[in-house]
Amino acid sequence: MKKGKKYFFTFLGFIGFLIFSLPGLSSVNKPPLTVAESSHFTETSMYADVISFIKELQRQSPLIKVETLCMSTEGRAVPLLIIGKPCPSSPLDLRFDKRAIIYIQANIHAGEVEGKEASLMLARDIVLKESPSYLDDLVILISPIFNADGNDKISPSNRRNQVGPAKGVGVRYNGQNLDLNRDSMKIESPELKGLVRNVLMRWDPLLLVDCHTTNGSYHEESVTYSWPLNPNGDTDIIEYMRDRMMPSIGKILKEKYNTLSIPYGNFMDFEQPEKGWKSADPLPRFLTNYIGLRNRLAILNENYAYSDYRTRVYGCYHFLLSILDYCALHKDEIIALTIEADRKTIEKGIHASEKDKFGIEFERKSLQDKITIRGWEMEVIPRAQGWPRVKKKDRKKTYILPYLADYAPKRAVPFPHAYLIPLAESALAEKLLEHGLIVDRLTDSVSLEVETFRVNELKASERVFQGHRLNSVSGEYFIEKKEFSKGNLFVSTAQPLGNLVAYLLEPESDDGLLVWNFFDRYLVHQWRRQPQIYPVYKLMKPVNLARERIQ
Ligand SMILES: [Zn+2]
Repeated sequence: MKKGKKYFFTFLGFIGFLIFSLPGLSSVNKPPLTVAESSHFTETSMYADVISFIKELQRQSPLIKVETLCMSTEGRAVPLLIIGKPCPSSPLDLRFDKRAIIYIQANIHAGEVEGKEASLMLARDIVLKESPSYLDDLVILISPIFNADGNDKISPSNRRNQVGPAKGVGVRYNGQNLDLNRDSMKIESPELKGLVRNVLMRWDPLLLVDCHTTNGSYHEESVTYSWPLNPNGDTDIIEYMRDRMMPSIGKILKEKYNTLSIPYGNFMDFEQPEKGWKSADPLPRFLTNYIGLRNRLAILNENYAYSDYRTRVYGCYHFLLSILDYCALHKDEIIALTIEADRKTIEKGIHASEKDKFGIEFERKSLQDKITIRGWEMEVIPRAQGWPRVKKKDRKKTYILPYLADYAPKRAVPFPHAYLIPLAESALAEKLLEHGLIVDRLTDSVSLEVETFRVNELKASERVFQGHRLNSVSGEYFIEKKEFSKGNLFVSTAQPLGNLVAYLLEPESDDGLLVWNFFDRYLVHQWRRQPQIYPVYKLMKPVNLARERIQ
């Protein structure tokens, strides 16, 4: 062998040694495992684990980009994954595109962890496939660790009635001690601000999926779900999701992925289960109901806490796959539904008529079809205060029950064309802008006939809830001619978010800004005993006015 040749082979041998001996190089194409998988389902990911998992996906695939959804209170950058083929750099890339945008969010309650693990598995299994599924039809956004601050307070003493992971989970609250699934209307957290600004307003996903864990009534189904419930939102979206989309997704989940699911709920009365299965609350402080008010589709996913951790992670993973299966196939239908909902809302605001109402009190009714729950016989031990203790017996029992998931207004008020707000402080305009609403200011003074609400009684709750004493109000409406000055706020309901405008500003709204104390100092003046006039006036008919949009 010539000397040169010998050196050449020695060199090749050295390269080979490098390739096979250095771990970083030899594992270059190995798909990463989540902490749930690598710990054999005894642990869940810390924030740092999630970030390094995402970086590894990016090292292996061009189909995934990362944006920052928000900076958490404790200073963690909350990641938002953008998955597409090609992967868009911004929503502008999609303006002539036929793909639908779907948003999956996990860990809003950081003790409820399987959505975090399942959504990371989902991202990996889509982007690292040779021919990735769904990406001809969908752009998929994922926020796997929405409550990053709550996540890292992992302890086995959190959520002890949940079956695993053995090494513990995080806490429910964010870094401000707020429950992020009660923050949609008041938007006090960086997480909700980031969600609205950087996901809902920036990417405008057609569907939001919010992953949780539930420890309510005992049943065999590991996956439960709900849809937007508030009837002040677009009722065609509610009916489409309730009657067509969710039953189809449940069927895909069972037939293709061998996983049982039921609509979310609890027994109305544990002692008399035959009374029915009741769904979640319709208040829009709950995120999925809020999304419904914004004319978009939303799925509340509650995985069953008494299923073991592995079953919950795979249940959630298969549920997410079933949702994507459905959306890829029906995207045109979903796009058309949301376009039509926006159009109808604008139309309602322009031509608000007698028949257009805003519900302020609701009654819960049964849906037409009964629901089947694969449960157990139960032993109910009454307690002097609060809910009875319920123990599951060994014998299985199938319950066929009315499902109370239809909310209809019991009391409603006329839906206005616009609201006028003669307040000089900027906090209110800022709050409305945080929701992404179109807010104008008058550029001339004007005299208008408006409907005014006189407050007769304002009551604050005894208990503090999320740092607030929630108000309830009673009073009466009257018509008056009133002067409005240049600079006063004008908020039209003739905008795609018109239903949300009314929900925030109606005086008797059950989850509006009055409830959340935004008007307290205007409603109760010092030295005066009686509450006052609500400083938001309803303009019932369109009037041409000189005004400009606040940016
Ligand atoms: Zn939850």
